[in-house]
Amino acid sequence: MEQFLSDLAREKRIRYSKKYHAEHREQMIAHHRIYYEEHREEVKQDARERTQKLRLRVIKHYSEGKMCCGICEEERLPCLSIDHIDGRGAEHRRQPGVGKGTGFYLWIVRNNFPEGFQILCMNCQFIKRYEQNYKREEQEVGKVTAEKLLTSIGVEL
Ligand SMILES: [Zn+2]
Repeated sequence: MEQFLSDLAREKRIRYSKKYHAEHREQMIAHHRIYYEEHREEVKQDARERTQKLRLRVIKHYSEGKMCCGICEEERLPCLSIDHIDGRGAEHRRQPGVGKGTGFYLWIVRNNFPEGFQILCMNCQFIKRYEQNYKREEQEVGKVTAEKLLTSIGVEL
């Protein structure tokens, strides 16, 4: 009964709040604008701190609390970032609602820290990308060479 009443009170509060916001929209926007003008630096600082906390939370999760690169153990925070283990980061970030930067960190939290990510420093990310590209090129070159070889000697398989 108590729970029922508190749920009821909560619903009533939400309904009231929605109605109030709808009826005072312009007034509230103006109020926020004035507040922002008067507290610009504070607002910016709060936003920076929220972003830092969000980033640290995500790094902590994917580094299993170690707060370092999963390969070389680099600990300097500015170099650490999220890596898509399967190497399809660009493709993933183009999907609606994913995005990059802070938006991407928010996406991770909203999706309850999905699997498939790790923390790498930028050096290790570049090395990983280079090795992936190198393997792809090697395969492509390999195919071309085999085709060229077959046509050059006039053999069909
Ligand atoms: Zn590293």
